[in-house]
Amino acid sequence: MSNSAQRGKVVFVGAGPGAGDLITLRGLRQLAVADVVLHDALTDPALREHAPQARGIHVGKRGYRDSTVQVEINALMIKHASNGAQVVRLKGGDPSVFGRLEEELQALHDAGIPTEVVPGVTAALAAAAATQRPLTRRGSGRSVSLTTAVTQAGSVQAGRRADTEVFYMAGQRLAELSRRLLAAGWPAETPVLVVSRALWPDQIASDHTVATLPAASVLHSARPAVVTVGVGASTLAGNPAAAEQPSDRVPAREP
Ligand code: SAH
Repeated sequence: MSNSAQRGKVVFVGAGPGAGDLITLRGLRQLAVADVVLHDALTDPALREHAPQARGIHVGKRGYRDSTVQVEINALMIKHASNGAQVVRLKGGDPSVFGRLEEELQALHDAGIPTEVVPGVTAALAAAAATQRPLTRRGSGRSVSLTTAVTQAGSVQAGRRADTEVFYMAGQRLAELSRRLLAAGWPAETPVLVVSRALWPDQIASDHTVATLPAASVLHSARPAVVTVGVGASTLAGNPAAAEQPSDRVPAREP
């Protein structure tokens, strides 16, 4: 633990979406000097090795984070930083994308604790890289939107706001998402790419259309997935990283 006369700080670090080597060098350096690391469910456990002197605290159960848990996480960060600790708050992907960063930053600002944010690779970019599907395409794909398919109230919503739309947190609700996309005016044959556990060794990617998206449910069941719709989902001719077609193969589940 740092000298308590020293001022503590909380550094939010994006761990990247998959295997630990996707973290930035800056993030790694922050881990190396951390006294305390609070990490989320989707971060690679192998990253713990890079914070040898830190006390690791596992927070946040995927998909079940309620406001009580959030208050506890805020309190933990404030407690350790107030005691002079260098705290790393390690988040899956990028902290600024669907990571509740605003709530945690606000609590620390209110408590007068210094903060820093180190970006990471967000899942939408991981899916694009893994399948070699550029999210923007010269002439046809000028805009990208990152959207959570599920609202705070738990309902599925989708619109048509960009040439390429990437939906997070939709993996368990693909049939509903398909209906919402059709209702929002996406043509039935629009390409849709589903990638679960992008850039992990057991990644699965599959190609669909807006109309056939419900068929992806079994293949990606119980796995974190992003759904890319529109221009950025279309494959390049001769792409050797082409996604598989949905089959009846049984995917590995998350531990
Ligand atoms: N901050 C994270 C997102 C957290 S929300 C980021 O920037 O990526 C959790 C959602 O992210 C999951 O429901 C899923 O939609 C997506 N996700 C996270 N890791 C993923 C991965 N490796 N592959 C596919 N989707 C992933």
